[in-house]
Amino acid sequence: MRSSAIGSVLRLAESPGIIPLAAGSPAQELFPNADVLEVTDRLLRNDPGALQYGDTAGLAQLREWIAARNSTRLGIGSLPERVTLTHGSQQALDLICKALIDPGDVIVVDRPSYIGALQVFRLFEADLAPFPLADDEQLDALSSALRGGLRPRLLYVVPDFANPTGATLSLLQRQRLAELADRYGFFIVEDDPYGELRYDTDDGGALPAIASLSDRVLRLESFSKVLFPAARLGQVTAPAELAPILGMFKQASDLGNSGFLERIVLELVTRPGFTEDRVNAARLLYTERRDALVAGLRRYFGDKLEFDVPGGGFFVWARFPGGPNADDLLTGALAHRVSYVPGTDFYAADPDRGTLRLSFSGAGTEELTEAARRLYQAWAEGQTGVAP
Ligand code: PMP
Repeated sequence: MRSSAIGSVLRLAESPGIIPLAAGSPAQELFPNADVLEVTDRLLRNDPGALQYGDTAGLAQLREWIAARNSTRLGIGSLPERVTLTHGSQQALDLICKALIDPGDVIVVDRPSYIGALQVFRLFEADLAPFPLADDEQLDALSSALRGGLRPRLLYVVPDFANPTGATLSLLQRQRLAELADRYGFFIVEDDPYGELRYDTDDGGALPAIASLSDRVLRLESFSKVLFPAARLGQVTAPAELAPILGMFKQASDLGNSGFLERIVLELVTRPGFTEDRVNAARLLYTERRDALVAGLRRYFGDKLEFDVPGGGFFVWARFPGGPNADDLLTGALAHRVSYVPGTDFYAADPDRGTLRLSFSGAGTEELTEAARRLYQAWAEGQTGVAP
């Protein structure tokens, strides 16, 4: 196993004085501290079982709430028995591999793809087959590889505002993946932590979940981005035949999540309007932050840095068309007190070393403008060897 890029990135981003564009952490200003305080107080006073062991697949009422929401929000007719609560959606990836992956099994991943997923898949000694999934031509290449005998066990995809690219799959791309899964008998892991964090009101709205287009989908969601990551609460909605197996592995791994945190989350999300209000506040804040970073990068770099403006999520995925290598630039960037993640680790193979991931979620608008300036300084020094 390779050393954890995420761990070193998080440590880096936390160094004092560095503007943190590395970690994909949510804005602390959005955390519902007062609500958590009030609910915690009430639970501890009134619920004698608040600190007790619980159902290892997760608090029943929370799984019921998730199943009901799956059907109203996504059109997935799921029952609570199909839902397993996990220690963040990250643990769902681990449980899925425990249930389905033997060494040498093939997993199709995006190119580039979420580092944390690549890390788990490598731990289980899967063979990774990377294809850019939000790309029609590359989906043709995947189709022909399948026709030619490629037999993946899983395909892993972040359909909305992906980490790291910010890309979203079109309806046709979703339908094609669903058809391929049905035809060739693999499962799709649809990981959707960012779907609600959509910033452009004229983008035509949310597209169908892949889980509504095929029965061979394990759908992952997380409470980390819209609520708070210290809840370490995520969920996987699995096909009926797989859910008990995931539940068994969850039980064997840790006997279930913290029932106390599950109760706190349940109390919050079932308050009328609570989730909608949080999503709206998050959208407003992150739209401003995205726009500040994008404007700063354009102002300082012009056409020396290529990127698409993401319609949601936390990341701008950028590329230096004429160099430098983003791994090499990092030392200079840190010296100028700005962090980012070089793109290399997001590739299962053959990295494009000109790429980098810039996260706009965890810094204020003025800091983001300043971050773009600092990054430009580091870049310009790398070009000329002298300070601009
Ligand atoms: N999937 C993706 C695509 C992510 O970006 C993240 C968080 N960085 C996770 C899963 C894990 O989230 P958590 O475990 O906090 O739910």
